[in-house]
Amino acid sequence: MKKASADGARMVTLIPGDGIGPEVIAAAVAVIEQTGVKPRWDTQIAGMTAFKRVGNPVPDALLRSLRQTGVALKGPLETRVGEGYRSINVYLRKTFNLYANLRPVHSFQGVHTPFRNVDLVVIRESTEDLYAGIEHEITPGVVESIKVITARASRRIARFAFEYARREGRQFVTAIHKANIMKLSDGLFLKCAREVSAGFAEIRYEEQIVDAACMRLVTDPQAFDVLLLENLYGDIVSDLCAGLVGGLGVVPGANYGDKGAIFEAIHGTAPDIAGKGLANPIAAILSGAMLLDYLGHPREAKRIRAATGEVLQSGGTLTRDLGGIATTQQMTDAVIASLRTTASSAADHA
Ligand code: NAD
Repeated sequence: MKKASADGARMVTLIPGDGIGPEVIAAAVAVIEQTGVKPRWDTQIAGMTAFKRVGNPVPDALLRSLRQTGVALKGPLETRVGEGYRSINVYLRKTFNLYANLRPVHSFQGVHTPFRNVDLVVIRESTEDLYAGIEHEITPGVVESIKVITARASRRIARFAFEYARREGRQFVTAIHKANIMKLSDGLFLKCAREVSAGFAEIRYEEQIVDAACMRLVTDPQAFDVLLLENLYGDIVSDLCAGLVGGLGVVPGANYGDKGAIFEAIHGTAPDIAGKGLANPIAAILSGAMLLDYLGHPREAKRIRAATGEVLQSGGTLTRDLGGIATTQQMTDAVIASLRTTASSAADHA
């Protein structure tokens, strides 16, 4: 990916996506622009929307845009279960070598769940494992799906996790695996994680078997800090972690490579509520804050986090998934109003 700019403003590919994507991405764009940062958005269709419109879920124009900008804010894309085209998300992550999927999960005051003070980060390898998509039928009634784990990708994601932990002042990294059963593949992943951990003496390194880790996450989530996982376990465990703090509507995410990044919430297209104005925009808005950090606007990113935290804490404007009655637009307006208040009180104190 090549980073490009035009007329002074940074160009960012904007993929509204399918289902609730256009609703929550519009919210994220409005909130980002309220901070005063106005990237030049290059809007591109993808997924089912593109398939229906131009017969291709991943049009050339989208790939060209991503190559040019090197960075995207993306809504969810529909991938049909057991039929149709392969996942475009997996395709994009592999094509642009976005190997590290990062999902910060923390409790919000005002969002009621049985769990308090959750503060962990899921780091998931996202280019290989069973997502390599190598599946075939050996004979009718018998299929094979191949799990690919390489030392190169395992070391790379482990290094990413430890460097992230060091940069963010995190205490420890837990590698999550099933090496007791998959001795070769998960065994290699663990071996690489151990090797990399040796170069980060100040960061504690732990290992847990994935099933035990899931149980521990729902009984003692404070026992985790940075979680390091292969692709499939990372996919499953990050939804579990979202459940600890209020669900898919509040957890953002990003896919990083060495030369580019795509920012997107964990959640999917939510077909059950798409087009009804009921989607929670917070996950997309917070993914937008991660984008601003990446673009070099940490102050604005912090303001967005503070504003969303304030809206959630006040409890007056919550979408249905959080037990409220607010629409996507009302929640977005509340975040924008909170941003305006902080901007004017900062001006008063200037
Ligand atoms: P989903 O995340 O779309 O929905 C699961 C449940 O969570 C639904 O009840 C939905 O209403 C709710 N939900 C999700 N996001 C919400 C939000 N922002 N506000 C309020 N409620 C929300 O998962 P699914 O139903 O398993 O998948 C639907 C489609 O999305 C599938 O085609 C799947 O492949 C795709 N998907 C895409 C991505 C992506 O593009 N990154 C990620 C996951 C799933």
